[in-house]
Amino acid sequence: MSHIFDVAVIGSGPAGSLAAYQLASKGLSTVLIDKESLPRYKTCGGGFVFRGRRNLPFDISDVVEREFYQIHLYFDRDDLVLTTEREVPVISMVMRDDFDHFIVNKAIEKGAVLKEGHKLNKLSFGEAITLHTDQGDIMTKMVVAADGALSPTAKLAGWSETRNLIPALEYEVEVSPEDFERLSSEVRFDVDSIPYGYAWSFPKKNHLSLGVASTRKARIDLKAHYRAYLDKLGIKEVISEKAHGFQIPVAPRTDGFFRNGVFLIGDAAGFADPITAEGISNALKSGSLVAEAIAQSEGDVSLAGARYEELLKEQLLPELNTSLKVAQWFYGQKKIRNFLMKKYGDRFISAMTDVFIGERSLPTDLMASLKKKIKELVY
Ligand SMILES: Cc1cc2nc3c(=O)[nH]c(=O)nc-3n(C[C@H](O)[C@H](O)[C@H](O)COP(=O)(O)OP(=O)(O)OC[C@H]3O[C@@H](n4cnc5c(N)ncnc54)[C@H](O)[C@@H]3O)c2cc1C
Repeated sequence: MSHIFDVAVIGSGPAGSLAAYQLASKGLSTVLIDKESLPRYKTCGGGFVFRGRRNLPFDISDVVEREFYQIHLYFDRDDLVLTTEREVPVISMVMRDDFDHFIVNKAIEKGAVLKEGHKLNKLSFGEAITLHTDQGDIMTKMVVAADGALSPTAKLAGWSETRNLIPALEYEVEVSPEDFERLSSEVRFDVDSIPYGYAWSFPKKNHLSLGVASTRKARIDLKAHYRAYLDKLGIKEVISEKAHGFQIPVAPRTDGFFRNGVFLIGDAAGFADPITAEGISNALKSGSLVAEAIAQSEGDVSLAGARYEELLKEQLLPELNTSLKVAQWFYGQKKIRNFLMKKYGDRFISAMTDVFIGERSLPTDLMASLKKKIKELVY
């Protein structure tokens, strides 16, 4: 009989690689499977907020290309620019091939078995779960689906689509030394550079990661908005440019995160933040939570599923649900929002930065207090 792993983790992004690290550290036999050969490029701005970094069980300085202690939020009104600064790196810049591979190696050090270049095609459920990959079958007691926005595992395990997947474009751009010097000193978010969304400029070691994302699925010409953003940044010459398009799930699933021995984490679950579309920190967090739930349940798969959903309700979902409501308002009510930003913007960016660095979470009554503020201003 072939070996049966305690847990098979599908996908070696931040969610899966940290889950594998934590599971292996807790003594569970763990296999980490990815369809790609590693390291692999991942379409992502690579802006990693400090709340994710501070909770990692190991130092990642080796794969950080730049650190920013300040962030800048631009709007399409020239008189509205918000800036904030902290004593910790609010955003660390990483390239995802290096970053993800770094965590995978940490998982291997703890005893996880890596099977790269193994694409999952089918799942069969019996006494154990059989993963049918293009390189052969693997047997396991539990499956952690960390296979990203498209999550074939969730589909194979019977989930329907209840997340909100938004379109985004990422460009890895080499510019002239003068432009790079000017633009590499700040990390900036440009709200309204695209309808219902924002553009970003994230400086890496030798290039800029520039991108645009819209929170609506409406027909929006992302490429045209990216070109306009280059103009807004004053980029005169593009030396080289690699374009990548993908989707970001910015609303959690509404039909649960566990069934039949399969757990969903990271983008597969829809855990990217709805306001910022920042998904790395919640991917890591859900990877840790699933490992905690599985380890606490001592082999009882149903108990592990119930415990995981409980931990999500306590530690992840309330903030995501608040963020979802704030995002609908923030991107949908441009006029009122900009009016409020002019008056209270410094407080807003300061609060968001505290969330980014993990000093506070979004208050669950935030929408109620926003509505109160609007009433006070109008009447
Ligand atoms: C344009 C863009 C910009 C972004 N910018 C940022 C940012 O700056 N900061 C931030 O925090 N977040 C950002 N995000 C979101 C972030 O990239 C994701 O939230 C994050 O990668 C989710 O991690 P994950 O581990 O859940 O999935 P992923 O990182 O997507 O990893 C999934 C893994 O599963 C593997 N896989 C898929 N199918 C199979 C299969 N059938 N068999 C085996 N393996 C499989 C894939 O090869 C991949 O390695 C951005 C996203 C996009 C699209």
